[in-house]
Amino acid sequence: MARPSVVVVGGGISGLAAAWELSGAARGPNDETPRVELIEASDRLGGALATTTFAGRTIDLGADGFLARRPEATALVTELGWSDRLEAIAVSGSSIWLRGSLYELPAGLVLGVPTSAAVVRSVKGLSWRARLAARRDELFPAAFSVGDDASIGEILRTKLGPELTYQLIEPMVGGIQAGRIDELSAKSVFPALLDAARRGGSLMRALATPAGGDSATPAPTAANSPMFYSLTSGIGSLAEELGRQLVARGVVLRTGVEVTALRRTPSGSYPWEVDTANTTTPADRLVLATPAHVTSHLLGHRDPALAALDSVKSAGAAMVTFSVARSEITLPEHGTGVLVPLGTVWSGDGSMLVTAITFLDRKWPRLVREDDVVLRAHVGRSDDVRWASLSDEELTNRVASELAALLPRFGAASESLVHRWQPGLPQYYVGHDRMVVAAKLAATSIRVALAGNAYDGVGVPASIGSGRRAARETLNSLKP
Ligand SMILES: Cc1cc2nc3c(=O)[nH]c(=O)nc-3n(C[C@H](O)[C@H](O)[C@H](O)COP(=O)(O)OP(=O)(O)OC[C@H]3O[C@@H](n4cnc5c(N)ncnc54)[C@H](O)[C@@H]3O)c2cc1C
Repeated sequence: MARPSVVVVGGGISGLAAAWELSGAARGPNDETPRVELIEASDRLGGALATTTFAGRTIDLGADGFLARRPEATALVTELGWSDRLEAIAVSGSSIWLRGSLYELPAGLVLGVPTSAAVVRSVKGLSWRARLAARRDELFPAAFSVGDDASIGEILRTKLGPELTYQLIEPMVGGIQAGRIDELSAKSVFPALLDAARRGGSLMRALATPAGGDSATPAPTAANSPMFYSLTSGIGSLAEELGRQLVARGVVLRTGVEVTALRRTPSGSYPWEVDTANTTTPADRLVLATPAHVTSHLLGHRDPALAALDSVKSAGAAMVTFSVARSEITLPEHGTGVLVPLGTVWSGDGSMLVTAITFLDRKWPRLVREDDVVLRAHVGRSDDVRWASLSDEELTNRVASELAALLPRFGAASESLVHRWQPGLPQYYVGHDRMVVAAKLAATSIRVALAGNAYDGVGVPASIGSGRRAARETLNSLKP
């Protein structure tokens, strides 16, 4: 009997992880392994994972680290035989720009949310109002009745007031998602916060003593265990290596080929046909590891729950990386970078574009050089695309001026690089979980599995987990 055929659409890390699982994972293929074909629209694998050479180093242009406490990425790296390439983050902590100065963020924050009034007191740049709001949360917590879901912003504003919400917490939570906490779902993005709000009483106390572990809350880690890992060859190399090993085990990889339509063939020997401009591939099962709007476009006509995926908005971002001679720059003494609250005014035009700065060579020892430092500025949010109308030169100059205001000293850069990410960071709005459950159910009923950062978390580990889960569901559905 012919082997069943599975087509994976999308060659980001989710689709690659799905193909890895479908082709036998660590064990490799056997007689029951389906024929696997992965089709990727762009001319390279990896999606939001990409490396380049900059100032004599290999740097990541997209994700540059992944959470160590989640097992999916480290497990995959180990299965590929690359565990000796795992690179632990070298330092922790960061600073925040408040009222014209930099302040080190203290320990005792859970995704940016303080866990006591004492923690708030230790951030000197906050006003007495913020300190009072924190004390009030401990002594006379605001009443807040939480339904099935609420926005992160609504919970924080009600319980901790506007200053802590938008100046201290938003830069961290909103920054990770490149979105707005007033729109982001607590249930999908920060379930520990929803749980803490549901418990009533002090939000900070409840967060300090979580009722149960969850995926968005940093669990206490063992004394010397790192919070984040990268790879000594850059995280983008994970996609390249997966591609190499997938080909070696017989997976068909097609890049530079866009899937244009998915057609049911009820009378044919295969239930699906996958169309590209020049080809049609028959398939028993599909794994769709494409952005939500593409999945909606390809399958929306089959079910309203799949069409609804079109409403998942995505944020784009620009990354501006600089190499600066050590003699030309002074960084804050400690930490991996700087957070900048939204709407921060400065001496230049409008509010600042920069939302965060990452000191790349402080984080990753492989990037340290004697003569220069490399740092990257993050620009853009779901509702701030001012960067898109600036040329590379204009954007570089603007960001450099902002860095000169934000950092103790930022002189002339010896090299710079602008990388623009088109919208690809999905925003999980209130009610996202219900949309995802309905879409997955609708997909399963037509022998399709959904994978990708639109469903179960935007981080690299979550994306890998979603790809592998979709593949396991697919393999199970092929069993007689
Ligand atoms: C700038 C940036 C920084 C980030 N930093 C971090 C970080 O530090 N840590 C972390 O954990 N996460 C980070 N993330 C998030 C994480 O990298 C992504 O969420 C994850 O890589 C998404 O993988 P994916 O495969 O689900 O989606 P994608 O990488 O978006 O892949 C989807 C793929 O589908 C392809 N495709 C689309 N349409 C079609 C079609 N019709 N036919 C065929 N193929 C198609 C696309 O070309 C793309 O390659 C970051 C993301 C960005 C953008």
